[in-house]
Amino acid sequence: DLSEFGVLGLGVMGKSLCRNFASMGVRISMYNRHVPGKEENIALNFKKKHQELENTLAFDELHKFVGSLQQPRKILLMVNAGPAVDDVISELIPLVSKNDTIIDGGNSHYEDTSERERKLSEHGISFIGCGVSGGEEGALKGPSIMPGGNYNAYEKVKPFLEKIAARDKKGKACCTYVGRSGSGHFTKMVHNGIEYAEMQLLAELYQILRTKGNNPDEIASILADSENKMQSYLLEITIDILKKKEGDAWLIDKILDKAGNKGTGNWTTIATAKLGTPSTMIASSLFARYISAFKDDRIAVGKMLPVEVSAVKISDDIILEAYQLARIVNHIQGFKLLNEASKSYDWSLNLSETARIWTNGCIIRSTLMEKLVDILRKEEDLIHHSEIISSIKQLKPSLTRVVAKSIESNQPVPCLSEAINYLNAISHSNSPANLIQAQRDYFGAHTYQRIDDEPGRFHHTEW
Ligand code: NDP
Repeated sequence: DLSEFGVLGLGVMGKSLCRNFASMGVRISMYNRHVPGKEENIALNFKKKHQELENTLAFDELHKFVGSLQQPRKILLMVNAGPAVDDVISELIPLVSKNDTIIDGGNSHYEDTSERERKLSEHGISFIGCGVSGGEEGALKGPSIMPGGNYNAYEKVKPFLEKIAARDKKGKACCTYVGRSGSGHFTKMVHNGIEYAEMQLLAELYQILRTKGNNPDEIASILADSENKMQSYLLEITIDILKKKEGDAWLIDKILDKAGNKGTGNWTTIATAKLGTPSTMIASSLFARYISAFKDDRIAVGKMLPVEVSAVKISDDIILEAYQLARIVNHIQGFKLLNEASKSYDWSLNLSETARIWTNGCIIRSTLMEKLVDILRKEEDLIHHSEIISSIKQLKPSLTRVVAKSIESNQPVPCLSEAINYLNAISHSNSPANLIQAQRDYFGAHTYQRIDDEPGRFHHTEW
């Protein structure tokens, strides 16, 4: 019997997705390349390990894998982003037929996705660039899925993707057609950007609470109280992490403080700069990771410029309110980035639907995200919505105090600071940018507009 769906690449994600498909009753074929000197037949060995894979077909020869699929074929690639995707596509082109669909489920760059779609369309092959979030466990139990590309191609793979996706509160699949071309991968990239800032905010919160004299268990219990109100997956795992011990010692204290990254935060920061949108919190979380990576520098400079870190003398409740507002600002900026991209690339993104598919299965799921589904239905620019405005009014004094006190206490809080700086900048009708315009005109004759003249008329002064 031919299979309904194929999965190519049995790494961390591919394996979990295969088990998910099989558990949902989808007849799949699985393929992993045979690397000489490595495990004999990776797909077959994997199949033998899990009972739910009993009815799957396993291959280490590509032509046999392709031949085992019903036409039009649907093949999900779960290989490393970058050249591996192009290599696999080149190998597949001579084997597949017109009207087959290739889905790239990895974290590919959205511009590469658009180019691959164009290239494959010359062969009559459809291509879906599909963001998948939720890590290994999400892939197994139900990820959040962000497919983009040609809508007719999406319709063919929709039933399969919806089957394995997480469910939202109403039982609907956390999978939706995002839009044309690279929009699915762009959306996944912004998801990861928001995730970077959410993680950095938690790191700053941890630092502030730790320097107040709390041990990791105590911080976990402070956060656990707020978890009831703010339910968020990242907050939840942070509580678990803080409680983890090895013997008498907390594991967190044994982990080297150099943050790694796989590039999606970097891409989001480049994209936000390209689009002229101020996702300052994502950018500052990326740079916070980069600064952390210069550990030797930090040690050397710290010897010359010792900083005396003191405790932030503010109640835990106020600190948590600051965190709560900074999260709101992060989401305001993240969705603004999506909205600007949507306008620039003519993608017609449905931001409320995006929030909806991010309410479960993915890393940035939270009760805030659930609220945003409704809010974004009424107002695409979150900062214009009355509920958001009233939260800002209520929580802003706490964020201001926490940032001010943290800086006085010599604690770096780049992401919390960006949140308050953004709020202050975006809510001032007057900015000092008149001076920037004058300087530009002074050295470069770039001209400026006058507030006492018609808009659109440009002036130059012989300074
Ligand atoms: P792994 O490194 O675990 O697996 C990569 C897979 O790709 C392996 O099966 C590997 O085969 C295969 N592969 C690599 N190069 C080639 C090639 N040239 N030809 C054929 N097969 C190749 O990666 P993950 O499963 O973690 O990630 C896959 C994708 O999903 C990435 O784009 C990643 O960014 C994305 N992703 C990962 C998440 C995670 O939490 N891990 C979450 C969301 C997305 P072999 O074993 O033979 O080397």
